[in-house]
Amino acid sequence: MITILSGGTGTPKLLQGIIRLVDPADLTVVVNTLENSYFSGVYVAADLDSVMYTLAGIINQETWYGIRDDTFITHETLKEIGCEELLRIGDQDRAVKIQKTLLLEKYPLDEAVDIQRRKLDIESRIIPMSNQNPQIEILTTEGSLEFHEFLIRQKGEPDVLDIKYTRVDPAPGLIESIEEADIVIIGPSNPVTSVGPILSAGGVRDALKKSYVVAVSPIIGNKPVSGPAGKFMQALGHEVSSLGVAAMYQDFLDKFYIDLQDHNQQEKIERLISEVVVTNTNMNNIEDKMMLARNILGEI
Ligand code: GDP
Repeated sequence: MITILSGGTGTPKLLQGIIRLVDPADLTVVVNTLENSYFSGVYVAADLDSVMYTLAGIINQETWYGIRDDTFITHETLKEIGCEELLRIGDQDRAVKIQKTLLLEKYPLDEAVDIQRRKLDIESRIIPMSNQNPQIEILTTEGSLEFHEFLIRQKGEPDVLDIKYTRVDPAPGLIESIEEADIVIIGPSNPVTSVGPILSAGGVRDALKKSYVVAVSPIIGNKPVSGPAGKFMQALGHEVSSLGVAAMYQDFLDKFYIDLQDHNQQEKIERLISEVVVTNTNMNNIEDKMMLARNILGEI
């Protein structure tokens, strides 16, 4: 069994490679829920939906959220009649989000997601990191902001001084999915706001220490491939580099995949992590994704 810890952009790219190489039924994906919130009356679990759409083969790969070739009639209409619509949610994507919102009236998040992934014919298990709603606060030079306020309304521009979030209990089955896995893969996701929250859920770090864990660095050179990971790492006092990520994971990590561009960091990282593999981690096409997945899975 393979367990993968995921955010909503980098790790789904790797998932596209992995599902072409293994039986999807052998796969469990544990997904960050730190950014989950209600927008325009619907519950938005952005990373969960990105993982679901990736595994169902319908993800919009231009944006890494929403469904490919979706329409935006509801979004445009809501704006016309005066709704704020902070997020640009497509019509089919909104239907999935409405269903999740309705399911949440009867079921906890993990069960709602399990019902949805079955409807989408996804054979892999998808486990949200928690059924509780964590709170996040991004302290910036413009004041204290909620995640989407920072990223969308303020376009991620304010300088970040600190990031705080509440610790949550892991969802049912999460700890077991780590303890029983032959390999746990931490994909290239934001170490502060995607992987960090999963690691902070009660018991996760201890479970990882007992398992075989590999990770792919989300940083190439001294910046992330996309998103605010660099700004967030800096705010928390971490060096924005693969070495900086290695330091964040060193207490449980067995093997770390860094990019060819970072070969000069290998020796330093080997002082923290016993095995370091230098390879192409830039996933621009399906060949890159399968190559990296094969590299990781080849030895299990
Ligand atoms: P979010 O929830 O949208 O922030 O998504 P994630 O946390 O999953 O992904 C963001 C991280 O993925 C960023 O830190 C990126 O640097 C990283 N990332 C995205 N694409 C790639 C890629 O092709 N290769 C690597 N190594 N990292 C990537």
